[in-house]
Formats: sequence, C-alpha cells, structure tokens
Amino acid sequence: MFYAFGMESDALRGFIERYPRLFVLTGAGCSTDSGIPDYRDADGGWKRTQPVQFRAFMDELSTRKRYWARSLVGWRRIRRARPNDAHRALAALEQRGGVALLVTQNVDRLHQAAGSTNVVDLHGRLDLVRCMGCGRRLPREELQQELLARNPDWIDLDAREAPDGDADLDGLDFSTFEVPACAVCGGLLKPDVVFYGESVPRERVEIAMQGVQDADAMLVVGSSLMVYSGYRFAREAAAAGKPIATVNLGRTRADDLFSLKVAQSCAAALAFLLENSRVA
Ligand SMILES: [Zn+2]
Repeated sequence: MFYAFGMESDALRGFIERYPRLFVLTGAGCSTDSGIPDYRDADGGWKRTQPVQFRAFMDELSTRKRYWARSLVGWRRIRRARPNDAHRALAALEQRGGVALLVTQNVDRLHQAAGSTNVVDLHGRLDLVRCMGCGRRLPREELQQELLARNPDWIDLDAREAPDGDADLDGLDFSTFEVPACAVCGGLLKPDVVFYGESVPRERVEIAMQGVQDADAMLVVGSSLMVYSGYRFAREAAAAGKPIATVNLGRTRADDLFSLKVAQSCAAALAFLLENSRVA
C-alpha cells in the first residue's frame, strides 16, 4: 500500500483522474464536520456504549422507551445538521460524471442535501419512521411532535448526542416515557434505519454490488469498514480487481486492500474537487 503523507491531495487527484467512474462508499467520518459525532475512535473501537440492538428494540418496551426518550433530544441535532465540504465535493464529482454510485452508511441524508442524486442509503434514513405492523412510513418530524406532546417533561433535557440521533441520558428513569403506536394499525414504530443486529434489505445490497461492478475503482470516504455491511463492498471490489482508495483518519478493517490511503479529514482531502465550482 502507498501511504500518501504530505502529498495527499495530489495522490487522490491522480487516482480520481485515472478512474473516471467511481463506486463511492461513505461513513460517519464524512459527517463529523457537520456536527454529527462518530461512533468509533481512530483505532476503530467503540467510543461509548454500543447503540441499541434490533432484538432488544423489538422485544422490550423498556428499550423502546429509552430509545425514543434519547432520540427526542438527539433528533434536534440531526435535524439542524447541514452538509459540509466533503458532501459538497462528492456532489460536485457526481455532477461531472465521476460517480457510478454513492453508497452511504450514514442515515442523515446530508449527501442528498448537498445535491448528490445517485445515492443508496445502505442503513436507511433517520428522517423517516416505519410501522413494523402495516409498513406505513411517516416523517420523523411528525413523530417528534407527538413525542413532545406526550412527554412535555423531557423537552429541555440536554445531552451528548450520537450519530443515529440517540443521546446519552444515563441514570434517568424512562418508565414514565410514553411511546406512541401507529395511528393506523397500533403497530410498533421504528426509525427507518438498519439497527445493529438487523440485516440490510437484500435489494439494497444488490443495487450496491452492481454499482461496484459498474465502476472502474472504489473510493471509501470516512468509514473504518468495521461493520460487515460496508466491508463486503471493499471485498467485492478487491475480488473484481478494482483498485480502492480511502480517506480516513484512523485504522480500518480493510487497510490491506487499499492501493491508496489518505490520512486526512474528509473535507480537507476532497476540497480540491470544489476548486473549479468555487470560481464560478
Ligand atoms: Zn401501522
């Protein structure tokens, strides 16, 4: 592997020029400059306690009370987050035809907010809620208003917040928190995101895998690839003989698969893509 210390932008610019149709995979590091904190530290380990597990959410009312109480607070940060230069750079790259497909592990919709259109939200989207009974989807903001109406005592809680809109409210009693059910069928409401312990929908994986095949090379931006759902695309690209470059500040699970690794923040490393569009 070639570590491009000191001349990162030049090396990455060369990679993007050499491979005009990229499969781009992005992770939490892409959104940290938008004020959405990363779950994992530079060594790929958990920074805090692990996020909620799918089975616990489905099986335990106490887990759902705790989740929605924390989400009531955390959603405010997600809602006001705006795209940063990393998102804008990738949108600019798409506009000039350089992106075969962008697959993101983020659930914040900031790529779309920046103007990217060819995006697969691998792990779903936090601005929607899904009924596990009837399949109906509703805006997260609509549920926010109902959560606030039923739980006025929780409005002013301040907390540290995690990337999925979850917040740290340790030591509080969640038993009195009221969790709304689906207004149509009474079913269980769940954020329309893939929880830990839950599978990514098959057709979403198939679209992404096709994107790998359609591309000349792969670019990983801000993901440690510690989660298999993202790692498998790097494995697929490597198996197909496609070069892989990455922009990431720390260690990743796929370090041995990369032909280029740029150890910079995502926004700084990709800033050169905005040079021309800024002049206008
Ligand atoms: Zn329902």
